Amino acid sequence: MDPVDALLAIASLLERERASRYRAKAFRQAAATLSSLPAEVISDPTRLRAAKGIGESTFAVIQQAVAGEVPTYLVELRGDVEPERTSALRAKLRGDLHAHTEWSDGTTPIRAMADAARVLGHEYLAITDHSPRLRVARGLSAERLREQVPLVRAASDGGLTMLAGIEVDILEDGALDQEDELLAELDIVVASVHSRLRMDSREMTRRMLAAVTHPRVNVLGHCTGRLVQGERGTRPQSQFDARVVFDACAERGVAVEINSRPERQDPPDELIAVAMDAGCLFSIDSDAHAPGQLSLLDHGAQRAEHAGVPTARIVTTWGLDRLLAWAE
Ligand SMILES: [Zn+2]
Ligand SMILES: [Zn+2]
Repeated sequence: MDPVDALLAIASLLERERASRYRAKAFRQAAATLSSLPAEVISDPTRLRAAKGIGESTFAVIQQAVAGEVPTYLVELRGDVEPERTSALRAKLRGDLHAHTEWSDGTTPIRAMADAARVLGHEYLAITDHSPRLRVARGLSAERLREQVPLVRAASDGGLTMLAGIEVDILEDGALDQEDELLAELDIVVASVHSRLRMDSREMTRRMLAAVTHPRVNVLGHCTGRLVQGERGTRPQSQFDARVVFDACAERGVAVEINSRPERQDPPDELIAVAMDAGCLFSIDSDAHAPGQLSLLDHGAQRAEHAGVPTARIVTTWGLDRLLAWAE
């Protein structure tokens, strides 16, 4: 087995499991190190072990791969990680409109996300890093986003189109946390609430309405903000008049996101039903913060399928041309 492939396969599985981002990063780092080392160092265990970026477990993986074995750690992980959930709908998804990179709180460069999306067979992937007010997530200033946009588009290759986007914060008054003229230059705008999730229902309804009626918003991200499992603990869903917000989404052609992250499962089933009844479009997104999390779409697809969401209303089953025409 190619040792770089083995290291990346391990990183990807660790990311999907959302175990420890540092552990996954160590394997990605080792893969990068190994790709840059001369063959005589790789074949010399003493020098390889001493190389910067190669630790005890990554060294063991490399040694086993070089010896022609499938590394033990990879075999174990493959046994532990729950296999991807298959559904008829998953096979129809053609891309993803919500993903992060190391520019904000993701773990890897744009290229690594593009490579993983290509392996999944995506036709398109939108990079949607956070906006400035989300300081904990190193949200991008207008200046940094302007710098990022051409790099995202330049990562398109081999049948994959990379879309420049943003996950823009919906501020407390419903305004969006980025310059309008910059939003207008982007391919995809996902708008999400990340602060003061517990505000009063009437205020929250007004806040979300203001956001989804903004002419540049394409997708309403993880609409309730709830967390149902995981290391960040749980968090109740925010309270708002879903019918009013989803009616506005339907009228404006804004897609309600079905966020695939297992710890979010947002919207809850009962709100997916309200959005269906309102006639909304949907976008099944990974909200990946690492390449191995792009595959989490299987969770969202399964939930949408169980809820009976018609395929035609899921924008991420559309081809690129139709998607772009809608997003404009
Ligand atoms: Zn978010
Ligand atoms: Zn996100």
